Amino acid sequence: MFEVKELGGGRKKLKDYREIIGENVESIQEKAESLKGGTLANVNSTSFGGGVAEILHNLIPLMRDVGIDARWFVIEGTDEFFNVTKSFHNALQGNKELRLTESMRQIYVGVNRENAGDVDLDTFDYVLVHDPQPAPLIEFYEKRQPWIWRCHIDLSDPNRQFWEFLRGFVEKYDAYVFHMENYLREDLTRDRVVIMPPSIDPLSEKNMELKEGEVLRVLERFDVDPEKPIITQVARFDPWKGVFDAIDVYRKVKGKIPDVQLLLVGVMAHDDPEGWVYFEKTLRKIGEDYDVKVLTNLNGVHAREVNAFQRASDVILQMSLREGFGLTVTEAMWKERPVIGRAVGGIKLQIVDGETGFLVRNTDEAAKKATQLLKHPELGRKIGARARERVKENFIITKHLERYIDLLRGIG
Ligand code: UDP
Repeated sequence: MFEVKELGGGRKKLKDYREIIGENVESIQEKAESLKGGTLANVNSTSFGGGVAEILHNLIPLMRDVGIDARWFVIEGTDEFFNVTKSFHNALQGNKELRLTESMRQIYVGVNRENAGDVDLDTFDYVLVHDPQPAPLIEFYEKRQPWIWRCHIDLSDPNRQFWEFLRGFVEKYDAYVFHMENYLREDLTRDRVVIMPPSIDPLSEKNMELKEGEVLRVLERFDVDPEKPIITQVARFDPWKGVFDAIDVYRKVKGKIPDVQLLLVGVMAHDDPEGWVYFEKTLRKIGEDYDVKVLTNLNGVHAREVNAFQRASDVILQMSLREGFGLTVTEAMWKERPVIGRAVGGIKLQIVDGETGFLVRNTDEAAKKATQLLKHPELGRKIGARARERVKENFIITKHLERYIDLLRGIG
């Protein structure tokens, strides 16, 4: 059964971004002119948790504001289906040990077949399918219009068995969109590949300016001491996110700066059954150290609170082992925070080492940098200011909107 996603975040107006992008507002509106009244179906597998949902919540209202009739559909599936798609995710990001069984194939394709019965995607002018979960949908429609597959994960070194199976569906699409050059597969038709990094919305609750008083109230609510140094990692409870490494980094820093606190901000997503297991392991690893706070949507951490925690942090960590893009990095950079990130995937695209943040290979390097930043706050301020500029130039939602408009105009 398809869930027709309501726009939730309400209306957004491109002209409200004028204070950030100036007259680009008009040039984007002009470009969108020829798409006015066109219909676009977005399809993904969760309306909440993770980068894809975050982007769709922000981007769809803006598409509508420039005249594209964009809609959002979320496929529904059983726990079994989401276990299978989680294996896909892990295998495609490089887990070579996983095996794709016949029953996994059937569950994966079967759930897509059932979902296809519920919404007539053939009536839209464009169909934009996000990530592997709903990729097989294309099999079950007449396909009278351009279909675009938007990949949000790192496909540079996949488990071949899973990739070959997925490729059978992906090849039917008219365009494949990747975050960055390194992710594209040379076994896909090159002239259908489009490179488009994701974006953050500076006016969303996650990123909007907050008054200092509000930030302090959030800290108080969650028993975080504003007088003591704060290191934060925002990430789903997922083994790829390097949460254990973040704890190790914190422990190493604590040896030098004893009053440091660590905030682990982590959302539990519906399509992520593994998350619960990893969540419990995280709690066990932390043990009884109450300077480590585990802050989740289960205890009231939503966009505004994440915003406040990021703003209150002296250092942001992103110790991911693989990272499709890492919007959490972008969000922190926009807030002028110094980010220390492992040199993987999209983190490398965002952080220019020593300029707009720091790239590290392991927990020792991260701890050294974090200690340095906590001892020399002026360094963090300098890095933070440059980080914000980098986001403004490259990874802001209006840029993203413009890139989609270009894509649709080119493919229609
Ligand atoms: N996020 C959140 N609360 C959390 C953890 C993550 O709101 O506790 C948001 C985060 O702010 C970001 C998105 O979820 O907007 C995560 O996107 P990212 O690209 O970093 O990683 P993904 O989860 O898609 O792998």
